[in-house]
Amino acid sequence: MNIQAVRGMPDVLPADAARWGYVEHQVRRLFASYGLVQIRTPIVEDTGLFARSIGDVTDIVEKEMYSFEDRSGESLTLRPELTAGVVRAAIEHGLLHNQTQRLWYQGPAFRYERPQKGRYRQFHQIGVECFGIADAMMDAELIELTDRLWRVLGIRDAVTLQLNSIGSLEARHRYREALVTFLEHHRDGLDVDSQARIQRNPMRVLDSKDPSTQQILVDAPSILDALTDEDRSHFDRLCKALNDAGVPFVINDRLVRGLDYYGRTVFEWTTDQLGAQGTVCGGGRYDGLVAHLGGRSTPGVGFAIGVERLVLLMETLDVFPDELVRDCDVYLMMQSADAEPALRRLAASIRETAPDVRVLTHIGDGSLKSQLKKADKSGALVGLIIGQEELLHDQVQLKPLRGGESQTVSHADAIAYCQQLRKASWII
Ligand code: ATP
Ligand code: MG
Repeated sequence: MNIQAVRGMPDVLPADAARWGYVEHQVRRLFASYGLVQIRTPIVEDTGLFARSIGDVTDIVEKEMYSFEDRSGESLTLRPELTAGVVRAAIEHGLLHNQTQRLWYQGPAFRYERPQKGRYRQFHQIGVECFGIADAMMDAELIELTDRLWRVLGIRDAVTLQLNSIGSLEARHRYREALVTFLEHHRDGLDVDSQARIQRNPMRVLDSKDPSTQQILVDAPSILDALTDEDRSHFDRLCKALNDAGVPFVINDRLVRGLDYYGRTVFEWTTDQLGAQGTVCGGGRYDGLVAHLGGRSTPGVGFAIGVERLVLLMETLDVFPDELVRDCDVYLMMQSADAEPALRRLAASIRETAPDVRVLTHIGDGSLKSQLKKADKSGALVGLIIGQEELLHDQVQLKPLRGGESQTVSHADAIAYCQQLRKASWII
C-alpha cells in the first residue's frame, strides 16, 4: 500500500496553487494599501496558550486540538487559529508598548474536525489584528477592507455581512441572566449539547446548528437590548461609518462569541454557495485578550478568512482570470542537438534581461513536431525555434503560437520581443 496524505489534510496541486497565489497577491497588495504589516509566528505553540486564549469551553479546545508531548514532555499544540500566537508574540516582543499595531498574517491552522467540503484538518487562514485602537472607526475600516477585497476578487455579490454587538462585560452579565432564564425554561426542547452549555457557556447555545434549537431561539432575548449607552454609541458609530462607506450589512443579534475578552463588534461574511460551510470570514473586537494573556490592557480588533472556502467560492463563481491556466510565456525548440548550446545561450539571455517572462526550453531529442505540440500545451505565447538554417546564420525563427506570422530574426531581436511579453504581476 502506498502512503497517502493524512485524512483532512489536502495537497494543493499546481493548478490550484496558481489560484492561491493569485488570491495571496491581491491580499498583499490590498493589505499594504491599508498600512498593514506582516507577522509570522510558529505553527506550534505551548498548549496552555490556546486553552487560555480560545477558552476551554469551546469546540476547539474541547475536541479539535492537535496536542502532543515533545521529547522533553512539554505539551505542545499545532495552532488551531493564528490570533493567539500573534498576541503572544506582540506581548513577548513589546510591540504593544505605547504604540498601535496593524498586523496581518497568513498560514496553516489545524483542527481535528470531520473533513468535508470546506472543512479540513489542515486549512489556511489569512487574517488581520489591530492593537491599541478602541474607536469604532477601526472596526469600520477593517470591515470596509474585507468588502473591498471581495470586490477585487469578484465575489462581492455572493457574500453577505452579518453584524452584531455583544457589548461590554457589564452588558453580557445582564444578558447572560436573561438568556439562562430563557434557556432553562425551554431546556427540554434543546439538543443535548446545548442543554449541557446552558450554565457553562450559554451564549454558545446561540451558535447551535440544531434546527429545533434554532426554532426555540427565535424568541430568545436579544443582546442588543442589554447594551450599555457606551456600547450602543460604539455600535451606532460603526453602523454609520459602514453606511457612509456604502457597505451594506444585516444585523444578526444571534451572532456571538462566548468568551469574556471578546466584546462589542462581532461580524461574519457568509455565502449560501458553499452549503453548511458558509462562513468565509469571521471577526470582531477583543479588548480583553491582551490583558488576559498577561500583557498590559490593550484594545484589539481583527478578522480571519478561511482560504480554502474563499478559493472554493471563487471556483464556484468562476471568477479566476483565464491567464491563470498558462504556465509559460516562451518555449524554446531546436531541430537537432547541435543547436543545443545556442538554444541554452538564448534562454539564458532572455532570463537575464526579461526576468518576469517564463521560459521553458526543450530538453533532449524529439521531432520539431512533438516539440511544437508541447509548446502549445504549455500555454506559451511564442515559440523560438533554432533550425539548421537559423543555426548557420546565428538567427532564430520567432513563431507566435496564438495566431500571427512566423519570422526569422536575430537573437537580439528575439530577446527584445520577449522583453515586451510581461507576465501578469500576480503570477508567482
Ligand atoms: P465554523 O463555524 O465553520 O466551524 P469557526 O467559527 O470554527 O467556523 P473561526 O474559528 O472563526 O471558524 O475561523 C475563521 C474562518 O476560518 C472561518 O470562518 C472559516 O472560513 C475558516 N475555517 C474554520 N475552520 C475551518 C476548517 N476546519 N476548514 C476550513 N476552513 C475553516
Ligand atoms: Mg468550527
